[in-house]
Amino acid sequence: DLLISQIAAGEVVERPASVLKELLENSLDAGATRIDVQLEEGGVRLIRVVDDGGGIAPDDLPLALARHATSKIASLADLEQVGSYGFRGEALASIASVARVSITSRHASQSHAHRLRSDADKAEPAALAGGTVIEVADLYFNTPARRKFLKTEATEFAHCDEVMRRMALARPDVAFTLAHNGSAKRRLASADFSRRARDIIGEDFFPHARPLDATAGPLRLSGLAALPAYSRSGRDEQYFFVNGRFVRDKLLTHAARQAWADILHGARHPAYVLFLELDPAGVDVNVHPAKTEVRFRDARGIHQFVFHALQRTLATPLS
Ligand code: ADP
Ligand code: MG
Repeated sequence: DLLISQIAAGEVVERPASVLKELLENSLDAGATRIDVQLEEGGVRLIRVVDDGGGIAPDDLPLALARHATSKIASLADLEQVGSYGFRGEALASIASVARVSITSRHASQSHAHRLRSDADKAEPAALAGGTVIEVADLYFNTPARRKFLKTEATEFAHCDEVMRRMALARPDVAFTLAHNGSAKRRLASADFSRRARDIIGEDFFPHARPLDATAGPLRLSGLAALPAYSRSGRDEQYFFVNGRFVRDKLLTHAARQAWADILHGARHPAYVLFLELDPAGVDVNVHPAKTEVRFRDARGIHQFVFHALQRTLATPLS
């Protein structure tokens, strides 16, 4: 079973940033309004995520680390309508097979917290005011071959920071902090989308950014799209979210690139933060465990809608 978990981990736990993504999604699924992240050595030595969410009842703690134990879907039919980020129930089990994991949690119904370590079989009492603290230490300590594929501390930290940026853009209502090796890197107060986008993308994006909000039947595209005058070397600011999840999708990127193609020249890249919303039944988020790929039922219709909505926005003169 450990071997199966380690193989599954190869899909989910590519690097510290993929661990961080899973932990952040769990905190958001638990209704957290504030999430604090502390990393050490690019997240390889330690990833600690502290949230103020609903917590885990003591009886459920061992389940949190068990394979295919998810509290989020009860039937296959639910899979079509997943509103939560997680639904496979294998992230924590996979992570625990390649790192030392400790979960400390205090469920609202409990007078104190409990802590379970992945190398112990019983939870112990612990002190915590509320919410959940998950620590993932020594990633790949037992699979040295994988450890060799990790990049420098700075690179792994940059990937973790990118995961934070995506989550922070998707959930401006949630407060986030990020620290690396004891020094504060990000401090994001709960805000509206526009404020959050300024915090994440930077002020220089805004003079060139246009808000858009287009709907067609069950489809909605909203967010910000920057005109070509905005360009920053070395960094692609292209964020697409589908029903709240960050995605990297060929169809959407292509539709965007095409909308910009007429007005964008040379090495400049389109810059945007866009949210596509549609009926969950029209999109399959189940393509890959890392979940940045999606498949649309009506690919053609989506492409046209996104292309036209962006083209219209870009063609409107600045007021
Ligand atoms: P999934 O998210 O797909 O259900 P995970 O392996 O990521 O599976 O998590 C397993 C379970 O652990 C979740 O279903 C949830 O019940 C619980 N859990 C994990 N992290 C948290 C958290 N931060 N707060 C509350 N519950 C959590
Ligand atoms: Mg999860």
